[in-house]
Amino acid sequence: MNRSPPLLIRGPVLITGCSSGVGRAAAALFRRAGFETFATARQLSAMEDLRAIGCRTLQLDVTDDDARRAAVEAVEADFGAIGVLVNNAGYGQYGPLEDISLDALRRQFETNVFGGLRLAQLALPGMRRAGGGRIVNVSSVAGRVSVAGGGAYHASKFALEALADALRPEVAPFGVEVVNVLPGPIATQFEARLLKSISELEGDDLYAPFKRNLARRMHGFLAKGGFGVMSAEHVAKIIFKAATTPHPRPRYSVGLIARFGPLARALTPDRLVDRLMRLAIPNSE
Ligand code: NAP
Repeated sequence: MNRSPPLLIRGPVLITGCSSGVGRAAAALFRRAGFETFATARQLSAMEDLRAIGCRTLQLDVTDDDARRAAVEAVEADFGAIGVLVNNAGYGQYGPLEDISLDALRRQFETNVFGGLRLAQLALPGMRRAGGGRIVNVSSVAGRVSVAGGGAYHASKFALEALADALRPEVAPFGVEVVNVLPGPIATQFEARLLKSISELEGDDLYAPFKRNLARRMHGFLAKGGFGVMSAEHVAKIIFKAATTPHPRPRYSVGLIARFGPLARALTPDRLVDRLMRLAIPNSE
């Protein structure tokens, strides 16, 4: 059943990373609520189901500047401006930092950080012309707490948090809201890609047991049915709220782990956290 979109958000919604998981669930939710929804992904063929329910689909690799420009221009050609930009595309490069090449680290930031920031830069003039808009970034509890084996990914999400705190007051005078959504673990393709990122790392055998234990621990953390693990649909509902509520909070922490993890971390001394992490992910069998 279609409901009319709230009057406050007038323009269309553009979402990145809609081939699976949270992006796909969010695109379906916005569309079913009556929004003009531009679902984007690297592979158009991965969004047939979204097209079938009325989403417009665009090919968009968020690391490709020509594609970023073309996507924003396609929306503006028909609607004048993007109403809501949902920066969702992202993946987790995990593994010991000593083994992660700078190229892999750059790729992590190109996708998780620079891709979304560049899209925001491209969307902002249109939003300004339209008198307002909203930028919703899918961040993570990983942007508040860093853990052994997750340095590359967590650094990218910490960067998203820093950028949002700067961008929010910069663009507020133009009627543009910046909202970060910080979920805890979600059962999606994220886990498979993360585990692959560990197994693909080169390097000598020094960290071999650490990598195996890290993979085991991340599987336990992210697998469906695990403590605090959410569905993509649940997180999509919070993204929808962040995008449409008249007075959004700057941040929405989603799930128990995201809501209480950062507080627990802030109250625990660094050395104790280090010890606990070495116990949780030892570099031994
Ligand atoms: P997912 O199922 O793996 O979806 C990730 C999406 O990002 C896929 O559509 C993927 O497309 C896309 N993507 C990756 N690189 C891209 C690029 N260069 N250009 C365009 N799209 C790209 O995982 P998810 O859990 O839904 O992740 C969505 C967001 O939630 C991410 O930002 C992630 O960091 C965040 N998050 C996830 C969790 C979790 O536990 N799952 C927790 C907190 C936050 P391809 O199919 O083409 O690779």
